[in-house]
Amino acid sequence: LQRTLSIIKPDAVKKQLIGTILQRFEQSHFTIVAAKMMFLSREQAEGFYAEHEGRDFYEPLIEFMTSGPIMVQVLEGEDVIPAYRELIGKTDPTQAAAGTIRADFAESTRYNAVHGSDSPESAAQEIAFFFTDDEIC
Ligand code: ATP
Repeated sequence: LQRTLSIIKPDAVKKQLIGTILQRFEQSHFTIVAAKMMFLSREQAEGFYAEHEGRDFYEPLIEFMTSGPIMVQVLEGEDVIPAYRELIGKTDPTQAAAGTIRADFAESTRYNAVHGSDSPESAAQEIAFFFTDDEIC
């Protein structure tokens, strides 16, 4: 079984899509093994997205991710890392397949509703960034 770090981003929280999005995770047979609401500080957002520092979209990304509450979760399931990426669709919602979360709910490449880890290594790192072991069921 794999685990992945999932974020429902500020745009989707503002639109009251938490329930709808969690329902899609459960319909995909991902098990929610940890979840919490957070309001990221600038320092936390910069830490999480450190790999993108210097890119043209970095500063607006930090602004966006600190613009309101987010919901972070750890999801568990068979091959959940690629399965989650498939369920959310491409970063740019105009390129995302029909029926994916981003096709249905993302406004743009920046305001794109969700985040999911892209490899086992980043999943381990991202899960540890947000959760201690005793917060994960
Ligand atoms: P995430 O890591 O959030 O799942 P991703 O792996 O699809 O997204 P990355 O390339 O890692 O995309 O970029 C991280 C985030 O930065 C994107 O989800 C998006 O919010 C923002 N971003 C990436 N590229 C752009 C861009 N060209 N313009 C605006 N925002 C961008």
